[in-house]
Amino acid sequence: MDEVLKEALPTAEWMAISPGRVNLLGEHVDYNDGLVLPAAIDRYVKAAFAARDDEVVRMRSLDLDSFAAFSVRDVDSKLDLDGNPLPNWALYPAGVAWSLIKEGFAPHGMDVVLRSNVPIGAGLSSSAAVELAFAAAWQHVGGWKIERMRLAQLCQRAENAYVGVKCGLMDQFACAHGVARHALYLDTRSLAWQPIPLPLKTAIVIADSSVERELSASAYNQRRSECESALAHARKIFPQAQSLRDVSVEDMEKVKAVMPEIPFKRMRHVVEEIERVKQGCQLLLADDAAGFGKLMNAGHTSLRDLYAVSIPALDTLAAIAQNIPGCYGARLTGAGFGGCTVNLVESDSAEDFVEALKDGYQRETGMQAKVYICKPSRGVYIKPIK
Ligand code: ADP
Ligand code: MG
Repeated sequence: MDEVLKEALPTAEWMAISPGRVNLLGEHVDYNDGLVLPAAIDRYVKAAFAARDDEVVRMRSLDLDSFAAFSVRDVDSKLDLDGNPLPNWALYPAGVAWSLIKEGFAPHGMDVVLRSNVPIGAGLSSSAAVELAFAAAWQHVGGWKIERMRLAQLCQRAENAYVGVKCGLMDQFACAHGVARHALYLDTRSLAWQPIPLPLKTAIVIADSSVERELSASAYNQRRSECESALAHARKIFPQAQSLRDVSVEDMEKVKAVMPEIPFKRMRHVVEEIERVKQGCQLLLADDAAGFGKLMNAGHTSLRDLYAVSIPALDTLAAIAQNIPGCYGARLTGAGFGGCTVNLVESDSAEDFVEALKDGYQRETGMQAKVYICKPSRGVYIKPIK
């Protein structure tokens, strides 16, 4: 992979290596000030880069076979050098430049070529991986020392305000902070975080349903507003609540009477999912893979029945996995409506698990799942190209 990049951009002496991520527990809670537990994975966007003397960024995605160029001076326009709208993928890097400028940095012109094995649009956060790769490259060229959390926030702002995708901080956080062999606990309110070792002798297996997340964006926005509505109802009884994070499991019974069924179900998922993350961290620290896996299974049921973001293909993938020997837990991961499931599996059984899951999924749905064993990995970094 590195040779291909070197060949495509012979002037490059450095590359940014930026991982995708999978969320083990804590789904749809990051926009409710909740707790999440993702891990960066050993699938990466690799971006070879070389500084230029002007303010032009010329970049190419080998995966999309697409080229785009823009001037950092004219990044507000979202236009390329010929005055045409930037292609959608180029908005992610341009957004990072825009965000850096907003924070008072002056991103350099660069030539960049990128190549990735993070599946695109599958819920493994290829978008954050692209953003952090560019942010790290600009930081390297500029000789800046930006704290990792701030780098993640800059990239989140790029995706929210420039690309126009409402996302929480989790994706960029995980890509920036990954630690080998560890999950990453993050309190999205205080931004306190901590790496948590995964149980010994376990593997993370990701299964891509191959179903496109078509409804995902509109459903995501709808769930966000349903959470806002739930909060407004909850505040009738708990006026001090700033977000659903402030509603406890005990409080929920009291607010049930004052709100309609749908917002109540959404709230219940959020409140209990936050609780599952708290318990899950304790179980991981106690090396209790079986206990953690049960929470993953419960998380899937909740996403299906209370939060209503699953689809039959994901339910099938999770159900098959949960019945394969050696599987501790399986749940949909990411926003839902397609994309992937994440599975915690006994490491000695992982390869058999992969085959059994693929076979079972094909038998029940007629579709092919892509299934891979992943290792929790370090966050974005820069390395010389040899
Ligand atoms: P996810 O982050 O779950 O993979 P998103 O829809 O958030 O899905 O982001 C996918 C978008 O990120 C792509 O449509 C593209 O614009 C950009 N992207 C991801 N990977 C690449 C890549 N290798 N080359 C160019 N753009 C990419
Ligand atoms: Mg994304």
